[in-house]
Amino acid sequence: MFPWQTSTWQNLTASQQNKRLAHGLLFHGAAGIGKKAFAIEFAHWLICEQPLADKACGECKTCLLIQAGSHPDLHHLSPEEEGKAIKVDQVRGLIEKIALTGYGQRYRVIIVSPADALNINASNSLLKTLEEPPANTILILISDKPSKLMATIRSRTQMIRFDLPTEEQSLAWLNQQNIDNTELLLKLSAGAPLAALAMANDEGLQIRDKLFDNWQELAAGNADALESAAMWIKDGFKIINNLPLNWVSSWVVDMIRSLQGGHIKNMANLDYAQTLQNLAGQVDLKSIYGLQDRLNDTIRLADTAANQQMLIEGLLLHWAGLRRS
Ligand SMILES: [Zn+2]
Repeated sequence: MFPWQTSTWQNLTASQQNKRLAHGLLFHGAAGIGKKAFAIEFAHWLICEQPLADKACGECKTCLLIQAGSHPDLHHLSPEEEGKAIKVDQVRGLIEKIALTGYGQRYRVIIVSPADALNINASNSLLKTLEEPPANTILILISDKPSKLMATIRSRTQMIRFDLPTEEQSLAWLNQQNIDNTELLLKLSAGAPLAALAMANDEGLQIRDKLFDNWQELAAGNADALESAAMWIKDGFKIINNLPLNWVSSWVVDMIRSLQGGHIKNMANLDYAQTLQNLAGQVDLKSIYGLQDRLNDTIRLADTAANQQMLIEGLLLHWAGLRRS
């Protein structure tokens, strides 16, 4: 587990030892802080025949099977295609499979990730399992957006909140990962250390540069909002969905700072400070506040939007229209 997860680990393992572990658990919290890695490790611990206090033994027959990726008591339920829904046939197939197989000494575990990808029929099918779980079966649901889950699913699980690690914890961990610019990366990942690492590995800084270039082109009237929105979704959102909206949010805050006479040194985007100051000089405070409202609506709707393209397009159009109006 990650260093910032020790107390969650202790609470959950203590619940199991006191025979108070709920059979449905919902791990929720920000993206990029290690919920899934924790779930997998906890599942191993639950299935292991001789678990230690802080991990599975790694040596028993069960552990060896898990390491080989073929343990019959550990199941993963995820969309067949990245970003798509978990379908009812997948849930039914899994439930049938479980009904047919015996289980080992300890538990059977099903990890559903991301649980908010369950469509309505899949949710209803899973609900039955949550209401009448087979013996010794633990369901671990993982979600960054628990409000998107069916209320009846939420009410039948124990919600386990994963907090954002402190900046100190995150930086200590990131500094051990052999990457540069850890402070900037962490800031740009909204404080989520695994997201920061993903940004480092997936050229996140270059992606941010690309979006910022486009943001400037839009302001100058040199880019089309429609094409830009498609590019933002395809290239910008690939590391962590919607994260670039947080970046825009910090650009807007820096522009407001600049318009209010704040010093360039105090900007969050130090590498863009001069450009942001120039951009701010071309608009007035009132319209920037209008943009900020629009952006907040966009962030709120982004996780639930039926049409992400339209939503992002609307935001970019608003920004592009700001300077010329
Ligand atoms: Zn073991």
